[in-house]
Amino acid sequence: MRQILLALLFFAVPAPASAWNAAGHRLTAVIAWQQLSPTTQTAIGKALSRHPDYARWVDRSHSSQDVDIFAEAATWPDDIRNDPRFYDDGREPATPALPGLTDTARHKRWHYVDLDAAGQVKAGELDTRIERLSRLLRSTGKKAEISNALPWLTHLVADIHQPLHVGRHGDEGGNEVEIENPFNKRLPFTNLHVYWDDLPGPPWLRGKRLQQNAARLLENHPAPRQGNVALWRDESHRLLAEAYPTTSGSLRPIVTEDFRQRSRAIAERRIVAAGYRLGRLLDDIFGQRGPGKTP
Ligand SMILES: [Zn+2]
Repeated sequence: MRQILLALLFFAVPAPASAWNAAGHRLTAVIAWQQLSPTTQTAIGKALSRHPDYARWVDRSHSSQDVDIFAEAATWPDDIRNDPRFYDDGREPATPALPGLTDTARHKRWHYVDLDAAGQVKAGELDTRIERLSRLLRSTGKKAEISNALPWLTHLVADIHQPLHVGRHGDEGGNEVEIENPFNKRLPFTNLHVYWDDLPGPPWLRGKRLQQNAARLLENHPAPRQGNVALWRDESHRLLAEAYPTTSGSLRPIVTEDFRQRSRAIAERRIVAAGYRLGRLLDDIFGQRGPGKTP
């Protein structure tokens, strides 16, 4: 009986996944941080110190250095998915307002954009939201809006570089594609979206290890051209052609050694690209705000 239950657990469909896991978001943030001018770094450090969850970020990273706080803030839009202070907008009644936050919605639709075969957007707001948050950060004088928008923008620029976050509408961005991954003994049956989210490394990656991994990625991958949000989205969507395993396993498509290596290389390249581009975008935003308007 126990075996049957365990087998059922393995085959249970995991809940739709969120994004690159925390490691992917922290790596992107650390790479972006290195691209920023000292003025932008200071402005971001100040803005994040005013965020209501700043103390949690200090706690989790065991650090109050701006770069560590920035890396932790990058995972915040995923952290609130399991936080009862927040609610699923469109499905649940709003939770009470929180001091220092502009709203308490989880905004799950912000994390992805799904396209149909003709390239038309069918679901999600990832691309348009990056544009809107960028515009808000360039123009607002309200400190709460700045400290709220920063973790979101940081997070979403990483998400748009994850190919499955610009997924095929027909399979819910890979959430409905079940695969076999013999390299993960703990989770040998999973879905394609989760497989991609977990490629950047273990979710507890922080501190010195995080810095070392970021440095290794930077050595192995060149800076991309900056482009714009539409380019980042289209690049991700095109990568879907290589993102699905094609070898049959016992029951479903299986991750082979070759597929594993290729998908890892793509994930690393995309994280580096996201880091460089996020850095330039933030420098551009905070540069435009000018020293007088720096929050
Ligand atoms: Zn996300």
